[in-house]
Amino acid sequence: MIRPAGAFFLLVFGVFAVATSAQETQKIKGPDERYKVDILVVVAHPDDEGAVTPYLARAIYDQHKTVAAVFGTRGGSGGNDYRREHGPAMADVREIEARQACAKLGIDKVWFLGGKDTASQNVLNSLANWGHGQSLEELVRIVRLTRPEVILTWLPGIFIGENHGDHQAAGVLATEAFDLANDPVAFPAQLAAASKRLEPYLEDLTPWQPKKIYYFSDASDQTQFAGHGFAYSVREVSQSQKKPYWLLAMRAAQPHLTQFPEEIHRWASLDDEAIQKAMSGPGHLWWSEPETLIFGKAAKVGAPNLHVVETSDVFADAVAQPAEKQVPVEELPAISGPMKTSVKVGGPWEFYESFRIKHGLRQLPVAAGPEIAVRPGTVVAVPVHVIRPELAQAVFTLTADVPAGWKVTVGTGKFSVAQGTDAQFRVEVQTPELSKEQLKETKPQTIVVHASEGEKSVGDVKLKVQLVSGGVPQ
Ligand SMILES: [Zn+2]
Repeated sequence: MIRPAGAFFLLVFGVFAVATSAQETQKIKGPDERYKVDILVVVAHPDDEGAVTPYLARAIYDQHKTVAAVFGTRGGSGGNDYRREHGPAMADVREIEARQACAKLGIDKVWFLGGKDTASQNVLNSLANWGHGQSLEELVRIVRLTRPEVILTWLPGIFIGENHGDHQAAGVLATEAFDLANDPVAFPAQLAAASKRLEPYLEDLTPWQPKKIYYFSDASDQTQFAGHGFAYSVREVSQSQKKPYWLLAMRAAQPHLTQFPEEIHRWASLDDEAIQKAMSGPGHLWWSEPETLIFGKAAKVGAPNLHVVETSDVFADAVAQPAEKQVPVEELPAISGPMKTSVKVGGPWEFYESFRIKHGLRQLPVAAGPEIAVRPGTVVAVPVHVIRPELAQAVFTLTADVPAGWKVTVGTGKFSVAQGTDAQFRVEVQTPELSKEQLKETKPQTIVVHASEGEKSVGDVKLKVQLVSGGVPQ
């Protein structure tokens, strides 16, 4: 006979046992697998994705890769060659154009960082105008959400032809996000698990290390990137789509009506055969053949600071360089300046010098010396950084040699630098107006700024300048 108390005990224990076994089989929620992608593309403006759509068409249609895209801005300051809307209304239009263009390739995960278009070639202006910290936090969040194997982005560097600070800002942010997303102390609130109280603030993401990062560039001379990464043919015919990759890319660009309506209407009126005939000549395509995805770096488990080199394909494993070429980070020279008074180019060039070292990108292609392209008749500024470790006040003289017909407007003369500090100067030079014919003939020119202390030369800063018909101001 079972006493009532015993029955009660069994009943309670039984319920407890059931509860325990239910707890044991309870599933922990994993990350949302719908958002996992193979490739994350990080660019600046709506239509920038067009720089790599021939490759994306290959990856999506023939390698069955998944892709998400991030745009730094919504393109509100661009021109509208189609209709009347401008400014914020234009941004609303261009966001949709970008989403539609991506959707044509099957890319339906598209985010915007909310940066403002910055009409400048200086990456530091763009980072300031976008809100660098907030943009980086959002991009790290998107990397942790999408968990890409590979990041593709604009090359962070200055080249003649790569004329937009916003493009470079996308490359800087993507590089920083590549290095931070797997760091558990970077933006830790993104990684904290939900709690009963205040849980809306905590995101429960997981750290993530993308495997490789590749860059692309608008530089006029694409041959300088040959051998620096994965070269692919844009004229090759997609096995699954039976069309060349460039044609798939051009068709995908058709929603960008505000940017090049005449071309889009012309392509839309041509069938595939006619468009291929029209584009068959050399130099007719938007893309160089082949195109190079410039290898940035690969993450190596257990040896993240060793340099690695690219193999044959974006999705092939990168391999470590021979031991004698490996440069562990702790052996890198200090970034801090020399011990005697010296002078070097400042501004974004100096920033990139440190950036490449800090992010393990010392093998990235760079121009032979500081160079820039500007419109004729505009002012070009040479940033000059005087580094002065000695603890005494000094007077420097800056002079400049400029090409015939160019004129120094401001920035030369005598300057006093306070003790134990350094100083940034800008020497500004007015470039001449040129006719269209003169512009075609013009070669790059060099501005040389000399710095001296009394009679003693401290050093020179050189800037190679190409005058070109378009582009944003320096
Ligand atoms: Zn752009």
